[in-house]
Amino acid sequence: MTSVSRRALLITGGSGVALATTAALTWDRTSRLWWRVPGVDKQRKEGEVDQPGVRWIAASEANLRFADRPADYVIDRVVIHVTQSDFRTAVKVFRDPLHAAAAHYLVRASDGRIVQMVRDLDVAYHAGNRSYNERSIGIEHEGFVDRPQNFTEAMYRSSARLTARICKQYGIPVDREHIVGHNEVPGADHTDPGRHWDWKRYLRYVREARGGSAGAAGDPGSPGKA
Ligand SMILES: [Zn+2]
Repeated sequence: MTSVSRRALLITGGSGVALATTAALTWDRTSRLWWRVPGVDKQRKEGEVDQPGVRWIAASEANLRFADRPADYVIDRVVIHVTQSDFRTAVKVFRDPLHAAAAHYLVRASDGRIVQMVRDLDVAYHAGNRSYNERSIGIEHEGFVDRPQNFTEAMYRSSARLTARICKQYGIPVDREHIVGHNEVPGADHTDPGRHWDWKRYLRYVREARGGSAGAAGDPGSPGKA
């Protein structure tokens, strides 16, 4: 920072033309320095993912905001989505800079395979609500809200294991207050995951996975609840 200021000062001593140059130079330096902010430079490795067994396909940087979660924003929600498209199309639109939306994870219907497209530490534009984007992890599921056959056992199980790991990692309670549908996000005009999404079953799978990974039997907050 100091060297940038000194250099900027030196150049600012010149003419108006030099001033314009300074602005460009300072901007260039600032944007590069941004990567050296403590805690931000450590994790930017191409292809790196936040969960085991997931494949990395980067979303367009236009569909997210670089951040340093959970250091700058507390992560306390998981938002469940349904893509309203097939898997390939969802990947394509999240990579499209004009789409203006992307989620952290995308789960395939046929076999539950998971692709990560935005790092957990970054804010993905998925919830249609700034505060919810900042505080949540977004998981998209391949399918259509009016086609229950899309919601396969493999997809539920795989997504539930992912959510369980996210809950464990960020200390998020496994309940319907913290694991919500896109339709439940304040101000959201989306209906996904829709009425065919089996919340009882999903939460049960998340609790099973969470219990297994934590070594605890079930969720103490809701004994005997399915
Ligand atoms: Zn959605």
